[in-house]
Amino acid sequence: MSSGRGLLALFLVVTILPALALVALGVRLMEQEWIVAGQRRRQSLEHAADLAVRVLEQELASLRRKVAAEHWDDLPLPGDSAVLIIRGQSVSAFPAGRLPFLPSTPPLEEIPEGAFAEAESFEFAKQDLTEALRRYSGMAASRSPGIRAGALLREARVLRKLGRGTEALAANQRLAEVRGIALSGMPVDLLARRSRCAILADLSRRAELADEAQGIRQDLRAGRWALDQASYERVTEQLQAWLGAVVAPGPEQAALAGAASWLHRRWTTTPAGEFPSEGTQVLREVFVLWHSQGDSVNALLAGPAFVERHVMRPAAAAVHPIRLGVGVKRPPEGIRVQRSATESGLPWNLAFAPDPNEPLQDPARNQLLLAGFGLLLLLITAGSYLAWRAVSRELAVARLQSDFVAAVSHEFRTPLTTLAHLNDLLGGSNEPPTEKRRGYYEAQARATSRLRGLVETLLDFGRMEAGCQPYRFEPLDAGVFARYVCESFDAEVSERGFAVEYRACESDLPVMADPEALERALWNLLDNAAKYSGESRRIVVEARASGGQAVIQVIDSGLGIVPEDQPRIFEKFTRGEAAREHGIKGTGIGLTMVRHIAEAHGGEVTVSSVKGHGSTFAIVMPLKR
Ligand code: ADP
Repeated sequence: MSSGRGLLALFLVVTILPALALVALGVRLMEQEWIVAGQRRRQSLEHAADLAVRVLEQELASLRRKVAAEHWDDLPLPGDSAVLIIRGQSVSAFPAGRLPFLPSTPPLEEIPEGAFAEAESFEFAKQDLTEALRRYSGMAASRSPGIRAGALLREARVLRKLGRGTEALAANQRLAEVRGIALSGMPVDLLARRSRCAILADLSRRAELADEAQGIRQDLRAGRWALDQASYERVTEQLQAWLGAVVAPGPEQAALAGAASWLHRRWTTTPAGEFPSEGTQVLREVFVLWHSQGDSVNALLAGPAFVERHVMRPAAAAVHPIRLGVGVKRPPEGIRVQRSATESGLPWNLAFAPDPNEPLQDPARNQLLLAGFGLLLLLITAGSYLAWRAVSRELAVARLQSDFVAAVSHEFRTPLTTLAHLNDLLGGSNEPPTEKRRGYYEAQARATSRLRGLVETLLDFGRMEAGCQPYRFEPLDAGVFARYVCESFDAEVSERGFAVEYRACESDLPVMADPEALERALWNLLDNAAKYSGESRRIVVEARASGGQAVIQVIDSGLGIVPEDQPRIFEKFTRGEAAREHGIKGTGIGLTMVRHIAEAHGGEVTVSSVKGHGSTFAIVMPLKR
């Protein structure tokens, strides 16, 4: 038992340990594979980052050339971009309306205020509005746009004072047609249209007021007037009041105007000659690229759509399918590679992420690896199973063998004890009477023959197992032979109350057989029938032909054999449940020998049995007609 446990431990050590080691190795290998895949991925991201930086540098160089050479037609300008041009004091921008206001407005011709001193004295000092109106009307016909604008402005004012709103509106209408003249920097046409709105508001002519205000709003959007921030805000505030709706530039426009102001401020505050001739900057998502020479600056103000379409897209295409992100400050988890603005010299922080559809590891490689490990594990498991089976079989045989040795010793001990006892009786000082002595001698002969039988059985078994049992076949009639064995057996057991009946179903059953071996086989079956007979004392032997075979059956009505035992009882040293349960002595080699003999005759031995009802053993061998 302890050797069994030792064997089990050894088995576990040689099978489970390598399996565990293999699993650990597999996990480790997968981990390394993972790390290598990560490194490969990072490397490819680094390459992509370098490539993207190069492409972006080329794109920026090309933009810089266009801005420096003023090749505006080659410059695509989507809705969120504009060009700002500074020439000394003058600042302009295009396309019109892109910038809601300019950092500084071009100076317009101002109304010559002095020309109206005399006429104004009637309006204010003398309070003679009619005379003032007459004089202003006269001056409004002037060919000088400045005088005309100043006169119309005043005419409209006086008409309003006189309560002649409609005429005041007409005067303002005429004034709205004068271009290029300003009053305190505010274009007079814009002033005239604002006045018209104010008069229409006074007159409660709401629909016309809405039209007029809407018109101003549209022109403001279209960039009709170059306004500075203060003027723009003043106008939009009033429009807001008249329209009852928010009038403000969109966030893109506001960002563009902010970027323009930033550049202009930098230009005006930098000492002459120190302003960098070229530069880039990103302000509230507006990318500013400028070129300056002497007292002029050309600048591209590009919003996110411009940057995306005309700068990033070529770089993203070059690194596809790796993803390129702009302005990513804190990259999300996972493998990412960054190029900060300081590192690359570009105005953006860039981040590169792997293609989300790309599998993390080479699937074919993974599959191969997994398949390899799977196969190895399978091999180990199958090997372990086979080894386990072999080991347990060996253990079972060892156990059977030791049972066998015990059983054989027991079988020997009984006749030996009898012999020893008889020897004592015969060799004792009191010689037994002749009658008794004969009985003793007969008992001695029986014990000796039993011992011889046992020894012969063991020797035969040994030879059969070794495959060197000699057989001498001769033609004989199986029926006649079975009857002879049956009668001999009956003579042996009839004393114990057994009745062995022979039933011949066929008159003629010629076979080639070794009579000695066949007798041993039949005797074994009959012996078992008697041994495992239980209460029953009837044994039947039947010989017949079936399908070209001679069949000799030994039928008992004894203990029977459970179904699980039936296939096993022919194996050497195997004893059945009946033998164990009823403590019937035996060695477990009888049926093994019967099978050997039947097979040597080109036949077989079969069993059919029902526990508690008896068994039928049959030796089947080919008929030789
Ligand atoms: P042994 O009889 O010495 O045990 P055998 O090889 O002759 O060995 O038989 C093997 C087992 O088969 C027996 O232990 C017994 O359990 C069972 N067996 C054989 N013949 C019979 C029978 N006629 N009736 C019931 N059981 C039988």
